[in-house]
Amino acid sequence: MTDDRIIIKTEDLGFDYASDDGETCALTGVSLRIARGSFTAVIGRNGSGKSTLAKNINALLVPTSGWVTVGGFDTQDEDSIWEIRRLAGMVFQNPDNQLVSAVVEDDVAFGPENLGLPREEIRARVKSSLESVDMYEQRKMAPHLLSGGQKQRIAIAGVIAMRPDVIIFDEPTAMLDPEGRGEVLDIAGRLHREGITVLLITHFMEETVDADRLIIMDQGRVAMDGTPAEVFARTKELRALGLRLPFAVELAEGLRERGVPVPEGLLHEEELAEVLACLHQK
Ligand code: ADP
Ligand code: MG
Repeated sequence: MTDDRIIIKTEDLGFDYASDDGETCALTGVSLRIARGSFTAVIGRNGSGKSTLAKNINALLVPTSGWVTVGGFDTQDEDSIWEIRRLAGMVFQNPDNQLVSAVVEDDVAFGPENLGLPREEIRARVKSSLESVDMYEQRKMAPHLLSGGQKQRIAIAGVIAMRPDVIIFDEPTAMLDPEGRGEVLDIAGRLHREGITVLLITHFMEETVDADRLIIMDQGRVAMDGTPAEVFARTKELRALGLRLPFAVELAEGLRERGVPVPEGLLHEEELAEVLACLHQK
């Protein structure tokens, strides 16, 4: 990849948390190149370093060793921190911890106001961002009256209002019901199609199958990195890492073991249903 196609670079990134009972090594030797406009999913067990990686990308944390650049800006350069946070917005697991205002539209305006933008520009951005997550009608409401999924959409609108190049979603659907999960994922997919680079950290395997790239984290390291089809073909290793597999992958494997000629690389339930229907008709 040529340099201008890469939006995020980490080079031999290491990160240790210092606390009273010593240091916790959360990341070791993480070297990644993330292409502009790509959709990358990241999975890994609890404590494997996913959130620490995300926070190192948007400069909430700075490397203990190695380095990270976003859009060419080094996260260790203090003068670039605000530009990096604008370029790479983050959506966290718990929407309640991200909403700061008593009214939806004020919340979305918060970031643009901090950028010191003109009032008209702020108004326009708040409107288009809320429309983009289908929450414009609720603009005068109090966030605490909204569902978890709606709150998460407001948090996303707040990030969109900053006109970021990258959005990092850190388990954004973990606390949502299936409907809220679907809505948030649809928005992530649409933002990607509109050209935003998406990094989606999740523990729902099914959410990763349409990504361009899938990174598996284990004990602070990148354990696997490839297309979802490449990674999910390595079923034994994934299980050894304590990870589940997407339902279609699991079922296809079980069928192959029982002699049903199901091809490799099926990640979607619909594809598998199609294959089984064809086999049944023969
Ligand atoms: P994940 O997001 O994959 O669950 P994290 O990045 O949150 O993993 O954590 C990686 C490691 O760092 C874990 O061992 C975790 O206990 C530790 N850790 C995370 N946050 C802190 C913190 N604030 N202080 C000390 N250790 C932490
Ligand atoms: Mg985490």
